[in-house]
Amino acid sequence: MEGKGEAPAIGIDLGTTYTCVGVWQHNRVEIIANDQGNRTTPSCVAFTDTLRLVGDAAKNQAAMNPTNTVFGAKRLIGRKFNDISYLVDISWTFKVIPGPGNKPIIVVTFKGEEKHYVAEEISSMVLIKAKEIAEAYLGSTVKNAVVTVPAYFNDSQRQATKDAGLIAGLNVMRIVSEPTAAAIAYGLDKKATSAGGKNVLIFDLGGGTFDVSLLTIEEGTFEVKATAGDTLLGGEDFDNRMLKHFVQEFKTKHEMDISGNPRALRRLRTACERAKRTLSFTTVASIEIDCLYNGVDFYSRISRARFEELNMDLFKKCTELVRKCLRDAYMDKNSVHDVVLVGGSTRIPKVQQLLQDFFNGKELCKSINPDEAVAYGAAVQAVILSGEGNDKVQDLVLLDVTPLSLGVEILGGVMSVVIPKNTKIPCEKEEIYITVVDNQTCALINVYEGEGTKVSDNNLLGKFTLSGIPPAPKGVSRVNVCFSIDVNSILKVTAEEKTTGCKKKITIKNTKSRLNLRSLKLKMGTIRRRLKQKNPW
Ligand code: ADP
Ligand code: MG
Repeated sequence: MEGKGEAPAIGIDLGTTYTCVGVWQHNRVEIIANDQGNRTTPSCVAFTDTLRLVGDAAKNQAAMNPTNTVFGAKRLIGRKFNDISYLVDISWTFKVIPGPGNKPIIVVTFKGEEKHYVAEEISSMVLIKAKEIAEAYLGSTVKNAVVTVPAYFNDSQRQATKDAGLIAGLNVMRIVSEPTAAAIAYGLDKKATSAGGKNVLIFDLGGGTFDVSLLTIEEGTFEVKATAGDTLLGGEDFDNRMLKHFVQEFKTKHEMDISGNPRALRRLRTACERAKRTLSFTTVASIEIDCLYNGVDFYSRISRARFEELNMDLFKKCTELVRKCLRDAYMDKNSVHDVVLVGGSTRIPKVQQLLQDFFNGKELCKSINPDEAVAYGAAVQAVILSGEGNDKVQDLVLLDVTPLSLGVEILGGVMSVVIPKNTKIPCEKEEIYITVVDNQTCALINVYEGEGTKVSDNNLLGKFTLSGIPPAPKGVSRVNVCFSIDVNSILKVTAEEKTTGCKKKITIKNTKSRLNLRSLKLKMGTIRRRLKQKNPW
């Protein structure tokens, strides 16, 4: 890919189960097929004795090499081991252990040696694959990309996703929320005039997750009113229901139980996924597997009606979560202007029908392939940011908002909000705090995100100590605390005592800076003074 110039910026939907790449070309978005001809690529990385495989090649050998085939690194990215350990037993065939800073570490055997990877590294391998898919199609080197993340991703998860891009050699121009990208794909932001906003419900049923988001779009601003969903509900559950059904059928037909044989199960599961996809277009699908178990072939059929029956409770659960999302946003379903289908599993006719019925027969936005809508919007965003597009796209502006309130801890463990939830970003806000005891020379700044009035209910993002405050009676010295969030939702916090100019700042992104801060805190261990918010006047 050398010497052929630089390719346009691309949009990447880095999904939990599948990744999709789009690019703006010839005045429209092109979704790029991979070397197998598929328009989405499994977000799967496998390690063997000789090779590292990514995408379809990795997924295809998963049955033979389960412990070294890594799926769903997105569930781990930017998170602590404690927070995801509940997933370890149920979801993974590979080993995950706690590492330094309580970061989850993926353990595999590669070329005969034990290797440790963090989720950013695995995701970077998927991003490299996405970059290569685009380069093969465009015939030039791709440098710039817009990458999407779920709306509920916090600062650490967004930063880690950006880091994954960096490791992959990409300049991540912006991290965009998936529902926002889907709304952009449909140009819904353009339709929302200043006279009146638009309420858009994004229904995203993917491979392993279900996300509903209610957005209000007004003058180019996307506000997340509410999100709901289930991080353990998606297409793979439908595959599993069908799998169970066929395991039972095999038992009845051949008096043999294959449930203890991982390889047979994996082969049958792959066939089930294929049959499920077929059932979205036809009413009957067949399964044909030679030598499934003990030399016995398995040939069978399943109807769409039977498939729906097997999954009806799961489909209904989705509608319930839509109801919950609306309730959380205090919105009546009749106030929703558009309902957008996202995620491969929304191709299932029954899922569409239940959703349409819930909205009293409303037409759903489904003209863009649902598993491509997020990458589509990301590609539109990429061309806008790189300034390469023509008038057709230049009038799109994208403003995102903070999904959670951000603030500092004050006296009594109370959360003092500096940037409220749903503030447009980029943004910068400053608050003034005063000392709470006489001759207080240090101030501990604990930064939190969340809606709880007590910080104990919120999520600690980072902490640092500002020292060098001149001794004075309590309430006299002031500390200015400034929060600034850039376009990628990455937060910088600065604390400054103005009379002396002593200043300290952190960028809240990774465990490294947190480790430094921890050692700092140990040195300052005897200080227990807190800051108190100055009364506003
Ligand atoms: P992600 O959850 O990673 O964002 P996708 O949105 O691409 O991924 O959804 C992947 C899921 O969609 C998989 O479970 C896949 O089996 C399912 N899927 C893809 N095409 C169809 C189809 N035609 N009918 C039913 N399910 C489908
Ligand atoms: Mg997705």
